[in-house]
Amino acid sequence: MKAIVFHDRGIVQETEVPVPALRPGHAMVRVQAAGLCHTDIEVLHGRYGKGVFPLVPGHEYAGVVELVADDVSGIRPGDRVVIDPNITCGQCPQCRKGLTNLCAHLKAYGVTENGGFAQFSVVDARHLHHIGQLPFDLAALAEPLACVMNGLGAAGVLGQSGLPQSALVIGAGPIGLLLANSLRTIGVARVAVADRNDNRLAMVQAFGFEPFAAGSDALRQEQQAFDFVADATGVVAVVEGMIQYVADGGAALIFGVCPPDSRASFAPFELFRRQIRLAGSHSLNRNIPQALDLLTRDLTISKLVTHRLPLAEMVPFFTKGGDPTTMKVQFVAAAAG
Ligand SMILES: [Zn+2]
Ligand SMILES: [Zn+2]
Repeated sequence: MKAIVFHDRGIVQETEVPVPALRPGHAMVRVQAAGLCHTDIEVLHGRYGKGVFPLVPGHEYAGVVELVADDVSGIRPGDRVVIDPNITCGQCPQCRKGLTNLCAHLKAYGVTENGGFAQFSVVDARHLHHIGQLPFDLAALAEPLACVMNGLGAAGVLGQSGLPQSALVIGAGPIGLLLANSLRTIGVARVAVADRNDNRLAMVQAFGFEPFAAGSDALRQEQQAFDFVADATGVVAVVEGMIQYVADGGAALIFGVCPPDSRASFAPFELFRRQIRLAGSHSLNRNIPQALDLLTRDLTISKLVTHRLPLAEMVPFFTKGGDPTTMKVQFVAAAAG
């Protein structure tokens, strides 16, 4: 079969590889859609996880079950499914507390095990979720959306009591727009998105959010105007500056991935005096079902997928820098598949 293979640090090619063997407890999935994410590029360069090579990347994917092992129940050939990529130990203190995303021995399909940028992927059947009739490209957004939901939970803004009336997302990349979409879908009345790029701001407008040019006077006039502010840029200066937009009693979420050795500064007194919650979040925590529920309520989110490509055409997207007109890039299997 064909697969994208990370052969070594920085070396990526479409490669002919054997179809993986089915094992007990596992199912073989014929991949129909698989999204590229910034994490894949970090994995390619050995900056995320331990750097296991060779590796088939891809942790955001959906497809059709082709085969199941004899001991698998609840999943059958022909089922339409999405994968929860996180493989957790179930034994460590974090797993026992239900924080499986923080498992001390966290592994994941597409990071430490072969993932979804291939024609077939063999996955532990317990990691499969039925998607009903949801289109595959939407289903492949369930994993990043689950990460977003985990972040909203970490910031304390899910549920009636914590629901903000207004929110600002800084950074209009795929994750920023997923955040904004989620906030609107859960009932936040005012959702604004800031970015410095005009193409991305046009996308913000197309989704019906309130656009703000980063650094503009219009944005400066929104000091302390939002109950919830999220960084989706991973830029330290943005993280430092986001507190100023949070209303008293509000929350700020660090969702973008800043460089590990970077440092930010802000005034602890301000967090104290204005009672601001500052939260971080990592990955997803068994919440693919909630993400699927959200996806079925907002099909417009598929506008995020700007590229639907065969495997070979995916390769340049792992190595070239980000183009602001590119949102979500997906590998999509040929229609006959
Ligand atoms: Zn991802
Ligand atoms: Zn664990």
